Amino acid sequence: MRDHYDVLIVGGGPVGAALALKLQGQGLDVALVEARASVPGDDPRALALSWGSCDELMQLGVWQHVAQRTPIETVHVSQQGALGRVKLSHEEMQLPALGYVVNFGDLHAALHQALLTSDVDYLTGAQLQQVKTLAHYAVAKVDVNGASKMTTAQLLVLADGGRSVEMLPQIKRYSRAYQQQAVIADVFADKPNGGVAYERFSQSGPIAMLPRGEGFALVWTQTEANAPTVLAWDDATFLQQLQQAFGDRAGKLVKVGPRSAFPLYLRQLNNNVAQRVALIGNAAQALHPVAGQGFNLGLRDALDLAKLILTTPRPRIGDAAMLQQFSQRRRLDANLTVGFTDLLIQVFDEHPTWLQLTRSVGLLALDLLPGVRRFFTNRMIFGTK
Ligand SMILES: Cc1cc2nc3c(=O)[nH]c(=O)nc-3n(C[C@H](O)[C@H](O)[C@H](O)COP(=O)(O)OP(=O)(O)OC[C@H]3O[C@@H](n4cnc5c(N)ncnc54)[C@H](O)[C@@H]3O)c2cc1C
Repeated sequence: MRDHYDVLIVGGGPVGAALALKLQGQGLDVALVEARASVPGDDPRALALSWGSCDELMQLGVWQHVAQRTPIETVHVSQQGALGRVKLSHEEMQLPALGYVVNFGDLHAALHQALLTSDVDYLTGAQLQQVKTLAHYAVAKVDVNGASKMTTAQLLVLADGGRSVEMLPQIKRYSRAYQQQAVIADVFADKPNGGVAYERFSQSGPIAMLPRGEGFALVWTQTEANAPTVLAWDDATFLQQLQQAFGDRAGKLVKVGPRSAFPLYLRQLNNNVAQRVALIGNAAQALHPVAGQGFNLGLRDALDLAKLILTTPRPRIGDAAMLQQFSQRRRLDANLTVGFTDLLIQVFDEHPTWLQLTRSVGLLALDLLPGVRRFFTNRMIFGTK
C-alpha cells in the first residue's frame, strides 16, 4: 500500500469494484481495499440488472465474463385479489432485453478478475479501521492482512455497504426496519420461464420470480413472525403455499432448492458526502429488494462519481466544490428510486383499500397508456438520465 492516492475506495463489492474499474487506466493513483480475502462464491442471491446496468458492465469489459446471464424479455406485474396487471416488454422499448438476471457471486468474480489485471492498487484482506478527514486529504488506517498501514487520499470513497458510516461524525444515518425478511430460493416450473420476470403483490407479501437458467430465482417477502415458519416448510408445503399465493401464470411449480432469508430495512443518510469523502451504493442507501433496484442505483452512483472525478482537474479531486456537485447530481435519482420502492412496500404493508385501489389505478394506467408505460420502464432501466 502506498502513502498517498488520488482516490481510495473502501469496499470491493460490486459498486466499489465498478468505480475502481471505471477509474483504471486514466493516469490516477487509485486503491481499492476489500475486507474479504476471497470472492463470496456462496452468496445465493440473484441480481436483476437493468439494460442500462448491463450496458455499463459491457463497457467495463466484465459483462462477457459473468458466467450465467438470463435475459429478461418481459416484466409482468400483478396483484392478488384486485384489479390491475401490466406487461412491460423489450420489443416495446426496442431493446434486445429489458435486463438480465445474474448470480451475485458470478458478477463479483468477473469484477474481481478484471481488477487483478488493472492498474488499481487492489488489496484484499484489507479492512478500513479508522478515518480522519482534513481540509486537503483524508487519512485512513487500514489493516492489511494483520499489519496496520496509514495512507492518505484526496478523495476517500466509502463503498463498504455502510459498515464505516459511524466513523464520520458529520453523517447521520436513518434506518427503518421493515420487520420483514426476504426468503430466497430457486424454483422450477413444469414449463420454461420464457424470459418473464414476475412481480406479484400477494396477500402474504410481494413475490418476485426472476428468470434464472431454466427456472426462477424467487424473492418472497415475509413478515419477521412468518419467516421462520416459511423456512421450515418441507418442499411440498413450500411449493403448494407459493403456488397458492403466486397463481399459475408461470405453470405448475414442481421443484424448489434450499431456502435462505435476508432481513429487510431502509437506510438513508442526511448527506452522501462529507469533507474529502463520498458514499456510494449500499453505503449511501439500502433499499428493499422488491423492485430489484439496489445495485442498479448503486452502479449509477459509481458512474456519476467516476465521470466527475475524470473531468475534475487532478489537484481539485475531492474538494468541496466537486463533492457538492456529486451530492446534487445523485439526489433526484436516489430519492425517486428509494421513494418508489418504499411506497410499494407501504402499500403492501398497510393494506387499506384506498392504497390497493391506487395501485390498481396505477397498474391500469401503465397497461392502457403506452406513453406512460414507456416513461416508467425507461426510468427503471436508465434512472434519471
Ligand atoms: C435478497 C436480495 C436481493 C437483491 N436483489 C437485487 C436485484 O435484483 N437487483 C438489484 O439491483 N439489487 C438487488 N439487491 C441489492 C444489492 O444486493 C445491493 O444493492 C448491492 O449488493 C450493493 O453493493 P455494494 O457494493 O454497495 O455493497 P456490498 O455488496 O455490501 O459490498 C460491500 C463490500 O465492502 C466490504 N467491506 C465492508 N467493510 C469494509 C471495511 N471496513 N474495509 C474494507 N472493506 C469492507 C465488504 O466485504 C463487501 O465486499 C438485493 C439485495 C438482497 C438482500
